[in-house]
Amino acid sequence: MRFARGGLAVVAALTTLVACSPGDEPPPAGNSVIAEERVGAAGIGDPDFPNDGNGGYDVAHYDLAVGYSPADKRLDGVATIRAAATQDLIRFNLDFTGLHVRGITVDGAPATFSRQGDELTVRPAKMITARSDFTVKVTYSGRPRPANDSANLGTYGFIPTSDGAFVASEPNGSKTWFPANDHPADKATFDFTITVPAGVTALANGEMTAEPTTKGGKTTYRWSERHPMATYLATATLGKFELRQGKTASGIPALAATDPRFKRSLDALYTRSAEITDYWATVFGPYPFSSTGGIVDDYSAGYALENQTKPLYGGFAPDEAIIAHELAHQWFGNSLTIKRWKDLWLNEGFATYAEWLWSEHKGKKTAEATFNELHARPASDPMWAYPPGRAKPDDLFNQSVYTRGGMTLHALRKAIGDETFFTLLRAWTSEHRYGNVTTEQFIDLAERLSGKDLDPLFDAWLFRPERPA
Ligand SMILES: [Zn+2]
Repeated sequence: MRFARGGLAVVAALTTLVACSPGDEPPPAGNSVIAEERVGAAGIGDPDFPNDGNGGYDVAHYDLAVGYSPADKRLDGVATIRAAATQDLIRFNLDFTGLHVRGITVDGAPATFSRQGDELTVRPAKMITARSDFTVKVTYSGRPRPANDSANLGTYGFIPTSDGAFVASEPNGSKTWFPANDHPADKATFDFTITVPAGVTALANGEMTAEPTTKGGKTTYRWSERHPMATYLATATLGKFELRQGKTASGIPALAATDPRFKRSLDALYTRSAEITDYWATVFGPYPFSSTGGIVDDYSAGYALENQTKPLYGGFAPDEAIIAHELAHQWFGNSLTIKRWKDLWLNEGFATYAEWLWSEHKGKKTAEATFNELHARPASDPMWAYPPGRAKPDDLFNQSVYTRGGMTLHALRKAIGDETFFTLLRAWTSEHRYGNVTTEQFIDLAERLSGKDLDPLFDAWLFRPERPA
């Protein structure tokens, strides 16, 4: 993600809905200790976001069938989630907020459920045993509302617009439009079946698996993302769009879409996105996904998000630097995904550094010049007091995570030399392709490839609240 011009929209408080329960009986008396061991945790174990994600299972696939009417802003959804239990489960949680749950089945049998805040607790008719696969199907409907309960995070999730919806969910906004294990530590593949009024275009991740079909004034689009994806990168961006499709020079399918208001930017968005995807493949290693592109919608989010295969630009025509940033995330953030939010610099530091590399590649300002300019900032600059190696939940997108994160990589490049540095970037994306990563793993790999003790460098750049020498 990247802010277009800094600053976030003023946000309002969100009232949390607590829905009624069709049956939330306590576990049978006398078995409570055993029962507790068979309850999936309400969080996946990220101390900075304790209620995000859930324990006890691992999602393999989301099949999302969504109907949306922009006129009355109503969504009807059926989410079919295939998962593997990592423990016995008499009940487990999904993250879900706002919308009305009409019914839930587990392996085809009706399940009872209850809701509290953003937690949807599902109690299957029969215990799910550890290591078994199960399928939970949630039918739901209502008027989605975006998350906007934090001044730090702004407005995100499913955001209704006049002609459709702008869907950008970092860090935990997927729960505003589908039930999920809503944390990047649990990645899964996705199928989307999206039905909208004829004339509205539905754009989701991955590739279209069938031509859109229109019946009774409604058009159904089918998209599929076959590579693992973090929930926050899932999108169903809806509205009136001008499209341009083709292939990059190296043969990667590409799609650019712009709201009619940004029609003049369509060709530039298409051309730059294709060119930059191809260039990054020569720098970072093979492109990890089956298509690339970008979407400009007219919702003035003031930020862009690197939605997998289709970065989304909210209300502005992106310049090359922002496109370079969002497409670099396809490697750093999307293919390689952080396991805990505190390691966000592994996304944003890398994508920021990519902006500097792009400028260097184009014969403009070098990364070295950008680094030197930033390093010359006075000792009182807030960036030095904020070490980027531990992003804070109440300040997740602090500029230091971006800028000082990028500087960390340049300091590393100078310490180990260009050859080892760029070998490291490619080894990093290849060894952890489609996986989850931590800062410790990056430091280990950098030390292994360079043969150097890099702890002092990373400690100074990532963890000390002062300007590194
Ligand atoms: Zn970013």
